[in-house]
Amino acid sequence: MITLKGADVSAKIKEQVGEMLKGCQGKTPKLAIVRVGEKPDDLSYERGAIKKLASFGMEVQSVAFPEDIDDETFQDKFWDLNKDPEVTGILVLRPLPAHIDEKAVENIIDPAKDLDGISPVNIAKVFAGDATGFAPCTAEAVVEMLRANGIPMAGKRAVIVGRSMVVGKPLAMLLMKENATVTVCHTKTVDLPGTCRGGEILIAAVGRPEMIDRDYVGPGAVVIDVGINVDEHGKLCGDVNFASLEGKASMSTPVPGGVGAVTTAVLARHLAQAALSEGGFA
Ligand code: NAP
Repeated sequence: MITLKGADVSAKIKEQVGEMLKGCQGKTPKLAIVRVGEKPDDLSYERGAIKKLASFGMEVQSVAFPEDIDDETFQDKFWDLNKDPEVTGILVLRPLPAHIDEKAVENIIDPAKDLDGISPVNIAKVFAGDATGFAPCTAEAVVEMLRANGIPMAGKRAVIVGRSMVVGKPLAMLLMKENATVTVCHTKTVDLPGTCRGGEILIAAVGRPEMIDRDYVGPGAVVIDVGINVDEHGKLCGDVNFASLEGKASMSTPVPGGVGAVTTAVLARHLAQAALSEGGFA
């Protein structure tokens, strides 16, 4: 089984971004990461993004608010950020605390700065196959992982386990745009292992530690693991039991070191795209 490494794909995207930045007239695109509270997962993601984007020659501003900020104040601050000409792109760390109206944020965010595709405008563009919008970075990272490794998607049976708005649903649209024949599975899917075995490409976006093992994988399938979980020993793991796929799958992505690394690289590319778009630096 071949291991598909995120770092290799990320390096290719870094080259593309380097070329794109040449069009930015010496200006540095700036990403604002919006965080409410101090959740360890958010802080860890933020640190990773700052490091990665710096390595791509881009700037990140952490815009942190206290956990108890009221919704009205939060929305006012968000509007300021939206209008700030120094801010090229915005990423909101979610889920936000329950008292913050997340739907309102999705509607407020300027679609041109919405790098992770949460606004209704960008979602509609993904569903319409219109490449001028921003797709959610993780969903796009899966397609990028396949494309960069020369794995054909056209005419292939792709099975996705998970139907969230962040991964499963937009990914189904992106894969359909690549002419794959897509099946989306969820908790009510009957015979999940059998349905998964029908996939020539199997994507796990379930949020259940190592749930997908060799019984879910057809012979020679390509398996992409989107999951980021912590197992009972406190160790980072995916939704796929990677070791069990040996001798069954043809290729698979590890966790860590797989899709996650590509997701941040896609975020960097979106930031460069925003900088080059009308209203950006161009
Ligand atoms: P989510 O919103 O919790 O959605 C999980 C989906 O999996 C739901 O559609 C759910 O079905 C389905 N599901 C859960 N248990 C199932 C089961 N036993 N059988 C069949 N389907 C099942 O999760 P998400 O936000 O999409 O994230 C999925 C995974 O990706 C998580 O591990 C998350 O940490 C990871 N993630 C990674 C990145 C990255 O950059 N690599 C980014 C985002 C998320 P129902 O709809 O029926 O409930």
